[in-house]
Amino acid sequence: MEYDLLIRNGTIIDGSGAPRRRADVAVKDRRIAALLDPIEGAQASAANAVDANGMIVAPGFIDLHSHSDWIAPIPEHGSILKPFLMQGVTTFVGGNCGFSVAPIFPGKTRLLDASGQMLSERKLDWKWTSVAEYGAHLTRQGLALNVAHLAGHGSIRFSVMGSSAADPSAEELRAMQSTLERAMADGAVGLSTGLGYFPGMIAKPAELAAMARVAAAAGGVLTSHLRAYSTRSLFFSSEVAHNLLAVREMVSVAREARAPLQISHLIFVGRRTWPTVNEILANIEKARNDGVDVAFDTFPYTCGNTTIRIIFPAWSQNQLEELLDSADGWARLAAGFQPLKPFIHDTVQLMWAVKPELKHFEGMFFGEIAEAMKLDPVDAYLTIARESGTRARVLIHLYSGDDRNENALRAAMSHPLNAFEMDTILTSRGHNNPASFGTYPRILGYYVRELGLLSLEDAIHKMTGMAADRMHLRGRGYVRAGAAADFCIFDADKIGCDADARTPDRDPTGIEHVIVNGRSVVKDGIWCGDGVMAGQWLTRGA
Ligand SMILES: [Zn+2]
Repeated sequence: MEYDLLIRNGTIIDGSGAPRRRADVAVKDRRIAALLDPIEGAQASAANAVDANGMIVAPGFIDLHSHSDWIAPIPEHGSILKPFLMQGVTTFVGGNCGFSVAPIFPGKTRLLDASGQMLSERKLDWKWTSVAEYGAHLTRQGLALNVAHLAGHGSIRFSVMGSSAADPSAEELRAMQSTLERAMADGAVGLSTGLGYFPGMIAKPAELAAMARVAAAAGGVLTSHLRAYSTRSLFFSSEVAHNLLAVREMVSVAREARAPLQISHLIFVGRRTWPTVNEILANIEKARNDGVDVAFDTFPYTCGNTTIRIIFPAWSQNQLEELLDSADGWARLAAGFQPLKPFIHDTVQLMWAVKPELKHFEGMFFGEIAEAMKLDPVDAYLTIARESGTRARVLIHLYSGDDRNENALRAAMSHPLNAFEMDTILTSRGHNNPASFGTYPRILGYYVRELGLLSLEDAIHKMTGMAADRMHLRGRGYVRAGAAADFCIFDADKIGCDADARTPDRDPTGIEHVIVNGRSVVKDGIWCGDGVMAGQWLTRGA
């Protein structure tokens, strides 16, 4: 048989966690046709060949926690998301943390815009309502990489209940459930929740379980940005560590709903929270042993991106703009923020200020911005929030560690129930999150090769097969016959990336080939993906 592509002389790490082995890979019609031994490989012929001598041939990486569903509908998304492809990512699962761009009812996009605009390159033109219409839009437009989708609880709640902070009535809950049912029938891989954000922060466990049951009945996953990732938060009043309460809350929701639970970006925020890592991991293991199908995901940095709205209290969330515009509201907010002053000063870095006249503050910590503005850090924070229309993005530090202590980060990363993800907001504007450029190469270079934190096979499993399995993507994440021809081919001795929070825009090293559905976007270490729209819209089980 004449193949489309032969990857010769490489060492296969197939994504299952199995030991590496030598084989050639034959690709036909965007799929892996066969793995060949060297004699068969030498005899086979193909239109194209890649010499992977001395290289690892891995499945393309799957970012199971992405917000790029907000970028994919833009025709030039390929050039915006190029850093994903450059680091070997061939698939992302969008719609996370409750804010998915679909489903959303017509007339309710304004609410979603207010919450999600910081995730976006520019205002979306909402040519879709359902998940199926969103997928059809992406397919018509073309995709630079593969996209799977979670239906967001927040988007569904906005659709049915607007910005109401009340519990849903029985009728509203039924409407939310049927909207989710439709999204699942349209191929969504599950339900995402964002319990630190409005409106997820309003939702009680009974509401979440009622929704999760629908996702689970359709064979989907429940993902959760937990209510708290630190020992103290605005959401619980108990003396027990709040991140522990948050884990227990979602475990019991998942148990009641019989849903597989993926705890999103398991981070330990702030120094006082780091020591809780072992207790949290033990609780997750215990839940698993008690029959709840729970796992979690992490990224390999001690900072993460989010909205400037994140630290505003629940009572302020649906009237934030008005509060920031009134002297009274400002005073109330500022008073509540006083205990957070050191946190804002030292650990919050501005990524995107929205207004061009504030651009010079991007990349600076709020302590630095306050000094430049000659304001108190709290007032500097409120000023950027107001001026940006609360759309500013921030990078928060002291996530699971710092430069000197990564114990919590490494314990979570190396845990058997952890899969890797990026959780990045990547647009063409503002100061970037280093994770958009270096997540996977940093894991494979720094944590695997230099520190020996986990084996190469194990790390790749957590980036590929495990991620695909958690998100019910059957044809992805493995190098085996019948799977999609997505690959990252790299030199294990050279792979790495030194992007960091101050200088995030650094390309990775050691990645020789990135192939999406049989088509190269990186070849011999050189980017060749401009205009290559080889990605596909993926539905659950596909
Ligand atoms: Zn999140």
